[in-house]
Amino acid sequence: MADAPVHATIEQSRHLVTELPGPKARELAQRRNAAVAKGVSSVMPTYAVRAQDGIIEDVDGNRLIDLAAGIAVTNVGATSPKVVEAVQRQVAEFTHTCFMSTPYEAYVEVAEKLNELAPVPGEARTALFNSGAEAVENAVKIARAYTGRPAVAAFDHAYHGRTTLTMALTAKSMPYKHSFGPFAPEIYRVPGSYPYRDGLTGAAAAERAIDQLEKQIGAQSLAAVIIEPIQGEGGFIVPADGFLPAIAQWCRANGVVFIADEIQTGFARTGSWFASQHEDVQPDLITTAKGIAGGMPLSAVTGTAEIMDAAHPSGLGGTYGGNPVACAAALAAIETMEEQQLAQRARRVEELALAQLRQTQQKDPRIGDIRGRGAMLAFELVDPETAAPNAELTKAVASAAHRAGVVTLTCGTYGNVIRLLPPLTISDDLLTEGLGVLLEALTAA
Ligand SMILES: *Cc1c(COP(=O)(O)O)cnc(C)c1O
Repeated sequence: MADAPVHATIEQSRHLVTELPGPKARELAQRRNAAVAKGVSSVMPTYAVRAQDGIIEDVDGNRLIDLAAGIAVTNVGATSPKVVEAVQRQVAEFTHTCFMSTPYEAYVEVAEKLNELAPVPGEARTALFNSGAEAVENAVKIARAYTGRPAVAAFDHAYHGRTTLTMALTAKSMPYKHSFGPFAPEIYRVPGSYPYRDGLTGAAAAERAIDQLEKQIGAQSLAAVIIEPIQGEGGFIVPADGFLPAIAQWCRANGVVFIADEIQTGFARTGSWFASQHEDVQPDLITTAKGIAGGMPLSAVTGTAEIMDAAHPSGLGGTYGGNPVACAAALAAIETMEEQQLAQRARRVEELALAQLRQTQQKDPRIGDIRGRGAMLAFELVDPETAAPNAELTKAVASAAHRAGVVTLTCGTYGNVIRLLPPLTISDDLLTEGLGVLLEALTAA
């Protein structure tokens, strides 16, 4: 028997012993500049050594409040006991055989679990990959194989990844696409639903999108429509009620595969297993990654069997897809979400954070909009007179929070959205304190 697993135990409180970055972080930054490509950048000015639930500890011994969860990945925390144990156990059994070479049970078990959880119509099938972008690429391959059609439609403000195909699906030029073209062909963009800025009802926004799908692309050419049920990088945009169901219904009526990209919204993040469930939408295919495996790299496409099975044998795969260690982590993470009722916990995070945000908004009209679901919340900073996005203020608030020991991310096509994505295991106190630091930074800016 292996020794008992080692769990980090970090005091759950914010505590700064140096300025940020401290001396060791500055030293690492120098080494990094000499070793790591400039194109890869980081939000925080410091370097992590340990993390647990709501706290990340840095190289200088500072304890930071985590309101980012590694971009909605460590929903169960970064050292969730069952995940740590499962990974340690699996790594001692075997690290890899390649599922396409010598398969193993954990892959099948993850597929069974996802088929059970994902709200796709009818019998389901799953294929596993490594990253979110890879899942999106494969969902598009499957939709094209099933329909025999070439075109794919994505929405304004969409984010689907950074590979050549997913970059084409992603809306924002800087930093994701700028200088990296030419882009994959047969990708089209249509307007979505952004209630704060377009003022449209879900029905009206859907009509506008469907009009373009029909007139500018043509249903007969369209393999798939892909959409994030709540847009992530694009600004945590929650579409108006009725928008998603109307798009899904149009797709079904026209033989177009409806792909929900739940890579950021999945796994209890928004207060249910998947964000599609808030409006009872049943996507044909769902892409997942991020929160799926407690921090281990894993992604999936889950969908209706008839569509999933349209790709020929050996048409899908990859050396590492569904790595056994990542699969073991996923099973443990999903079990933890169930046992700890983390979807319910996400709704509690929403309740707490929204109250705090709305209180500040009453005194500070620079908070133009507050939105999101569950533990996927954001506020948009604007000019109170014109609602023009204020990216400069957003940047200033985020960096002040970083220096004060709060890990937070910005997003949005206009760079003026501050997003909250805490681990679902963060304590009420840390959540309130972290958000308080952010809002104080706003008041001071
Ligand atoms: C992060 C993200 C992706 C890309 O996932 P990677 O693992 O970074 O490739 C795709 N879609 C959405 C909605 C995402 O949030």
